[in-house]
Amino acid sequence: MPPEDFKCRQCGNCCLNLYDAFETCATDDDVQLWEQEGREDILEWVDPIPLGGGQFVYDIWISPRTGDDVNRCPWLRKLPKKNKYICRIHDVKPEHCRKYPKSKKHAEETGCKGFEK
Ligand code: SF4
Ligand code: SF4
Repeated sequence: MPPEDFKCRQCGNCCLNLYDAFETCATDDDVQLWEQEGREDILEWVDPIPLGGGQFVYDIWISPRTGDDVNRCPWLRKLPKKNKYICRIHDVKPEHCRKYPKSKKHAEETGCKGFEK
């Protein structure tokens, strides 16, 4: 969870600008959950990269149509007539998203307004 004095403003910045590919990898637990829940719609946006020994890095979000990573998350939805965004997979979103931002510094460095008063 993000720090306590944090309040998400639903500005969408963190999901509109997926600029750090390494930071947007899913964990083994994320992938296991999506498999258990039968979320093929999510899994088709995951690119498993074998590391050997049965280990994988799960690169996200990779377009199943082009094979390229996308700048804007496919699960982001803009609310009609509002300048606010929601995550369409909020209940099962990756650990990376659940933990964002890791700190106030991380928020400031990545353009998140969640600590502004
Ligand atoms: S950038 Fe920060 S305030 Fe904006 S949607 Fe993401 S977490 Fe929320
Ligand atoms: S999965 Fe949800 S929280 Fe994560 S980047 Fe996409 S829209 Fe944002």
